[in-house]
Amino acid sequence: MLERGEVANSWRRERWDSLRLLTPNWQSRLPGLRYEGPDPDGYMTVGEVTDFIDRFAKVSRAPVRTGVNVTSVRRTDDGYNVTTSDGEIRARAVVVASGACNLPTVPPLKDAVPPGVEQLTPFDYRGPDQLPDGGVLVVGASATGVQLAAEISRSGRPVTLSVAEHVRLPRLYRGRDVLWWMDAAGVWDQRYDEVDDLTRARRLPSPQLVGTPERVTLDLNALTALGVELVGRLAMVRDGRALFSGGLRNVFSLADLKMNRLLDTFDEWSLTSGRDAEFGSPERPAPTHAPGSARLQIDLRSGEIRSIVWATGFRPDYDWLDVPVLDEKGRLRHDGGVVDSPGMYALGLPVLRRRKSTFIYGIEDDAREVIGHLAGRLAARP
Ligand SMILES: Cc1cc2nc3c(=O)[nH]c(=O)nc-3n(C[C@H](O)[C@H](O)[C@H](O)COP(=O)(O)OP(=O)(O)OC[C@H]3O[C@@H](n4cnc5c(N)ncnc54)[C@H](O)[C@@H]3O)c2cc1C
Repeated sequence: MLERGEVANSWRRERWDSLRLLTPNWQSRLPGLRYEGPDPDGYMTVGEVTDFIDRFAKVSRAPVRTGVNVTSVRRTDDGYNVTTSDGEIRARAVVVASGACNLPTVPPLKDAVPPGVEQLTPFDYRGPDQLPDGGVLVVGASATGVQLAAEISRSGRPVTLSVAEHVRLPRLYRGRDVLWWMDAAGVWDQRYDEVDDLTRARRLPSPQLVGTPERVTLDLNALTALGVELVGRLAMVRDGRALFSGGLRNVFSLADLKMNRLLDTFDEWSLTSGRDAEFGSPERPAPTHAPGSARLQIDLRSGEIRSIVWATGFRPDYDWLDVPVLDEKGRLRHDGGVVDSPGMYALGLPVLRRRKSTFIYGIEDDAREVIGHLAGRLAARP
């Protein structure tokens, strides 16, 4: 196992200070190691996640070689040649487990932003004190965007949040964590070959959720209550002006509709499973409140916006992979983790084999199946 940094490197180096997991502690599970503390419904801080993964590396006695950067992987007649910062390795099989979120995705229109406006990604952002005083435009309203918008707003800076398609979820539903419901109703266990539109499922933005000790819901209504101004999708920056799409009301209605459909499936599950009496009565969160007239443009040269935080997603980095296994968007071509090159496998990608593959606790089932395939292949060959 080669790791360019330390164990749990992404959690040590690439997360902001206040981040907590949005998955509850009972969902922090790795093979043979689970959360056993007093607060199964709480959410780990970044330090706690790092400790958890560190502990896993020790108890599993994983043969990790830290500080070894893989700079190239090439196919050979009988496997792969791996070039690292610590020499060459020949391998009959390779598992690509280098992560799905190595780089922030920032749209090319960043280049049109006037030079006086500071630009940050979640990889640069550690906390609001790092930002200049004055207005902040947060672009993207998925988990990262809503969490940063709330934190920056609480620091006293005026925040404008640019909202495109998003996944709205309440933190709690009928007294239980919404992720508990998804687990109980079998949503997370849905297999990749049963998902209607796998490409879409793999690109679905993260849900608007935050892990806090108070277990609060952080949706757009909560942000409006904090004083965050909502605008539409950032479509263009022209002549120093940020131009936003209209139709916010439709974007909100769609997210509300999808959320309510999901809550309907929870209610159906609680009835069919005979457990309905265990929970509070069905409820529906208030519809997302659309601003009377959302602004369609902001002059970025006026001084109103002093910084932009691009919360526009993350992507993997396969710069080191010299095997033609990437699609036109730079994503790995694979079937449930079996990559389109003999003896190459992948783990840790969204909806790799199940919906839960996106999360830490999804790895156990995925790894068992993917490594089963790998072991079968090695055993079958002389
Ligand atoms: C902001 C954010 C919040 C998240 N919140 C949650 C959450 O609440 N709950 C949850 O379950 N999941 C969450 N996730 C997803 C979580 O990151 C993954 O579930 C999990 O970390 C994936 O682990 P991994 O080992 O596959 O990838 P990573 O944690 O990305 O690890 C990949 C490792 O590969 C190393 N590496 C990469 N390239 C090379 C190379 N060329 N040579 C050597 N080493 C290399 C990296 O240094 C890194 O340590 C979140 C992700 C992000 C980005």
